[in-house]
Amino acid sequence: MATHAKPPRKSRQRPSRTVTGPSALEPDDVNIRAAGALYDMAALQSAERSRFGYKRAAKAVAGLPALVSDLVESGTLKEIPYVGPSSIRIITEVVRDGRSATVESAIERAGNPSRLVAGRRLRGNFLSHFAMQRALAMNLPPHIVDKAAFRGDFQMHSQWSDGGESIATMAGACQSLGHTCMGVTDHSYGLPIARGISMAAAARQHTEIDKLNARLEGTFRVFKGIEANILADGNLDLQAEERAAFEFVVASPHSLLRRPERQTERMVAAVRAPSVAILGHPRGRMFNSRAGVIADWPRVFEAAADRKVAVELDGNWHRQDLDFELARLALDAGCLFALDSDAHSIGELRFTDYAIAHARIAGIPADRVINCWSNEALDAWMEERRG
Ligand SMILES: [Zn+2]
Repeated sequence: MATHAKPPRKSRQRPSRTVTGPSALEPDDVNIRAAGALYDMAALQSAERSRFGYKRAAKAVAGLPALVSDLVESGTLKEIPYVGPSSIRIITEVVRDGRSATVESAIERAGNPSRLVAGRRLRGNFLSHFAMQRALAMNLPPHIVDKAAFRGDFQMHSQWSDGGESIATMAGACQSLGHTCMGVTDHSYGLPIARGISMAAAARQHTEIDKLNARLEGTFRVFKGIEANILADGNLDLQAEERAAFEFVVASPHSLLRRPERQTERMVAAVRAPSVAILGHPRGRMFNSRAGVIADWPRVFEAAADRKVAVELDGNWHRQDLDFELARLALDAGCLFALDSDAHSIGELRFTDYAIAHARIAGIPADRVINCWSNEALDAWMEERRG
């Protein structure tokens, strides 16, 4: 993502609205709306090259650290890499009119807008980089989770499965982010496509983690986790006695993510499965490409709250799952939360910022967020889940 624009000017931000209801903190994210118009335009292109060009411009806008309206005003939009004249016209229309006449007439010419409308639904409640930053800086009551209260990340992948780095390298990178703990959650053997690890490999991994923890002498703690796969019937790919070998289990869906029917029973069964501690990326949605699991989420959240299973806000930019709107329902249901990066490399560890941003918009207190707990509280909670 491009990061070459000037920093945001505080005075250009919208004044905070009066708090009148649950939607009061929702971001007016002009950057993501402008990026969305460019994604629409990309979907309308028959030539691969122009489709690629609009998509690349859209990504650049979604990743801007500045408010796109400021760049329109100052005429500096053309300095953003990959944003060409036709993209500039569309962005300018969105900023000035709230909609793009260029995109709208292209839709009219194309005739059948249904595919486009479907695509728009796959971009709901995603935050741009700018909106994420704004949510982190938002002035909120001190009990609401923030970066200062955040101790560590509980979903990440190492070279043991499909990640790019060793556990020691990931731990070092987490420490330089100011974290004091982390959970390693490589994929379990039921997901060979993600190079899921065998139980024998997990045992060797645990020896490696023990040695690393000993070397860190209490300055930083690595927790032993696993990301288990939720099967079609809500069972997991690891047996209950296998799950007990880990300090905590993240259960996540990686299949049946495009089904139009509800999968409430599957998700409820997963959170009720013994030794599950976190429900990972609960929908399995993907930006602009799939909606993920459809379910009666308040029922799933109720089951999670009942078992003290934390529901995850996965901060990977393409996931942002749960988003602030569903997170608010989970908050009402009494859930605990895990705010994680789902990083597969050290560069992706910063995705926790998106998870924290969604949690702040949802108004989640730090004491409901496991990432803010002490090692002792985490040990006790994990042991209870394994119970
Ligand atoms: Zn996953």
